[in-house]
Amino acid sequence: MFAAIISLGSLGCIAALLLAMAARRFAVTVDPRQVALLEVLAGANCGACGYPGCDAYARALLAGNAKPDLCRPGGAETLARIAAILGIEATPRQPQIAVVRCRGNRQMARAKYDYQGLQDCRAAQKLAFGPKLCPSGCLGLGSCVQHCPFGALSINSVGLAVVNRDRCTGCGLCVSICPRQVLTLAPAVAQTHVLCNSHDTAAKVKKYCDAGCLGCRLCVKAAPDSFIMDDALAVVRYGHEDPATMASAIDRCPHHCIETFAAGGETVAPAPATTKGTGS
Ligand code: SF4
Ligand code: SF4
Repeated sequence: MFAAIISLGSLGCIAALLLAMAARRFAVTVDPRQVALLEVLAGANCGACGYPGCDAYARALLAGNAKPDLCRPGGAETLARIAAILGIEATPRQPQIAVVRCRGNRQMARAKYDYQGLQDCRAAQKLAFGPKLCPSGCLGLGSCVQHCPFGALSINSVGLAVVNRDRCTGCGLCVSICPRQVLTLAPAVAQTHVLCNSHDTAAKVKKYCDAGCLGCRLCVKAAPDSFIMDDALAVVRYGHEDPATMASAIDRCPHHCIETFAAGGETVAPAPATTKGTGS
């Protein structure tokens, strides 16, 4: 009996010793900076940084393979904390916000056919390039809404995507999802935008939609510092807007496609009443 106790005790001691040696031999050392980085990253695991999640981005940062300013939801504060952990200098990028460059809602834009398929813009786009006559207009089926990790997008009652400027972090995921490049990122401080994405001529735009940019240049003439033409599409010269002439440019736009938004809240684009369109 005594011998059995001694031998079992010895076996236990040997096993414990082996386990201790194995633990020491195969121990994984965690860089404390990885833990610190995970604490400062936004934790949304949204993938906007281009990595599968915050953990992967933290590892890439430690390996020196990633820029420190890729966590857009975290913004300037997160960037400063990442820089402090890594002991580097970093300049914050200008905050950005998503803009829906389309006012061609159900009343304004005309349809090519009646789409009855999957409620997904990418699926609809594959069917004869989408049910809307305008090849650049919002399809309103909400692929962007489904992919925004921050609940900043919705489809309004007239079938257009709408950005909630308070919630949008400027991560850009919606921009990459939209099959029609309707969404773009603009400086968050910019409040006036041309809400059209069509580079087509006035003759074509008039066939598609009552709210598209006609390329008439009236806004450029009224506010030459604020607007520039990109083919037949007027675009805002972000950072160069002249408040003194902006209102005049907005007034002169014959299709009312220049819009100024309030600082916060939803970018609801009120559409003038019309009964012409049958768009999606
Ligand atoms: S903005 Fe693009 S993804 Fe979003 S509803 Fe419109 S077409 Fe679809
Ligand atoms: S609206 Fe677009 S840019 Fe803004 S948080 Fe959502 S996915 Fe990101």
